[in-house]
Amino acid sequence: MIEIKHLSKSFNNHKVLDDISLHVNAGEIFAIVGHSGAGKSTLLRCINGLERFSDGTLSVLDKEVKTLNEQGLNELRSHIGMIFQNFSLLNQKNVYENIALPMRVWGYRKEEIQQRVDELLKLVGLESKKYVYPKELSGGQKQRVAIARALTLKPKILLSDEATSALDPNTTQSILELLQEINQNLGVTIIIVTHEMDVVKKVASRALLLEDGKVIGLGRIEDLFLRPDEKMMRFLGEDE
Ligand code: ATP
Ligand code: MG
Repeated sequence: MIEIKHLSKSFNNHKVLDDISLHVNAGEIFAIVGHSGAGKSTLLRCINGLERFSDGTLSVLDKEVKTLNEQGLNELRSHIGMIFQNFSLLNQKNVYENIALPMRVWGYRKEEIQQRVDELLKLVGLESKKYVYPKELSGGQKQRVAIARALTLKPKILLSDEATSALDPNTTQSILELLQEINQNLGVTIIIVTHEMDVVKKVASRALLLEDGKVIGLGRIEDLFLRPDEKMMRFLGEDE
């Protein structure tokens, strides 16, 4: 589903991603973990075709991202949903309009939009908030709206950049459960970027550990956490 080989990227001669290789299987929940500045968001942005990279190859849904023109990138992005720590909702638009936005951009008919938004509101449990504005929602509810919006075009992949970092533990738990439901019931492949080990252990099957742009661990959660090597121990120790 996603295949990355020897990917490197620099900003102003500073290497922020250094020889990254990994694959993500269809249907899995994969975590990218690392401290601030490790390169997690940059890697997600590469996967989404929002960020160019110098070396290596990156294929997403069988498309070599580097070779895509703007139209190809837009087409690819329509298969990839994304959610963020700050929710990125439009404050002057109500819940319905926020969720409808991607379908409006792609020119869907009004009836199709109405039907899809109602479906999504049900999925995320916010039917009663349809005409409410973001400022009247809690953090968890805002993230639910953002998740619904990310799913509008029925993406195959959902990228989550610190989506639970601004939420309290209970709300985090409920959002993680929603993501698991989306993964299992809709078959959406999910990549979760986080610095919270708890989140990783709860939902991911495999993880990539990044430190200063370098891979310091890659594999199944059981192997990474139950049989940590020296680098891993240091990494986990720093996190406490
Ligand atoms: P955080 O946990 O704080 O979100 P991160 O792991 O997501 O961190 P990135 O945002 O990917 O880290 O940044 C990785 C490195 O790349 C950092 O050193 C950052 O300063 C640098 N960087 C990111 N975006 C740019 C940019 N547009 N221009 C220059 N440097 C950048
Ligand atoms: Mg980041």
